[in-house]
Amino acid sequence: MVYVRELTPKVPRFDPIELARLTESIVCKRVGTRVARKYTHFKVVKFYGGVATGFVVGCNLRCFFCWSPPSRDYPERYGRFYTPEEVVNTLVKLMKSVGGDRVRISGGEPTISREHLVQVLELIEARSDIRLFILETNGILLGYDRSYVKELSRFRDKVVVRVSLKAGTPEKFSERTGAKPNYFELPFRAIRWLLDEGVETYVAVMTDPRLMTREERRMLFSLLTGIDPKLPLEVEEESIEFFPQTRRRLRLAGIEL
Ligand code: SF4
Repeated sequence: MVYVRELTPKVPRFDPIELARLTESIVCKRVGTRVARKYTHFKVVKFYGGVATGFVVGCNLRCFFCWSPPSRDYPERYGRFYTPEEVVNTLVKLMKSVGGDRVRISGGEPTISREHLVQVLELIEARSDIRLFILETNGILLGYDRSYVKELSRFRDKVVVRVSLKAGTPEKFSERTGAKPNYFELPFRAIRWLLDEGVETYVAVMTDPRLMTREERRMLFSLLTGIDPKLPLEVEEESIEFFPQTRRRLRLAGIEL
């Protein structure tokens, strides 16, 4: 498979599991027994009342409304490799600078490179000063492999997972992310499995009315109700934010809002 960059009308729909594998081969490297991953930067962000955040390089979707930097599309050009120890030490230093107790990984897709993520979580679990780790994911890899969800559930005392949904139908999922429509269900399956395993999970959805009709939104919420009737009550609804890279991606995809 050719490495997919920005989404354009000509890009063939892709397999996001295969794109995750290809991306992993670019953004991860083994250092002895440890697995290092590329990050662009670390900083404290205002969400969740101030949280130290590491921004990973690379994703396995190509959402045309994505705000992530160009490292999403050109992972070989950006960031540097951090071992799990370097990641946790950097996050802790930032966390302490604001007197906080929570850390987060965001930016691209953190679940790419399972070994690196688990090594980071093992270090976090061993620290009494970190109370919470927030994992932000598109849910594709977690919905593909239940053993991954089971492994994450080992850390359920400290981990909260935020699954971000992109669409309410397979066709719209494919149109907005570039992935083949048959992968639409994976994030929903991830939510179900995470809840089954007792992992605190909440859902974010891109329901910007410029993209999503009321009917599609209704269908999406109905799918969430089928998993757990409480889920729709706590959904975080997102709108498009027009960063320069977002505008570029919308233009390349031929989307006019
Ligand atoms: S919005 Fe999230 S899932 Fe979609 S391409 Fe950007 S980082 Fe990946």
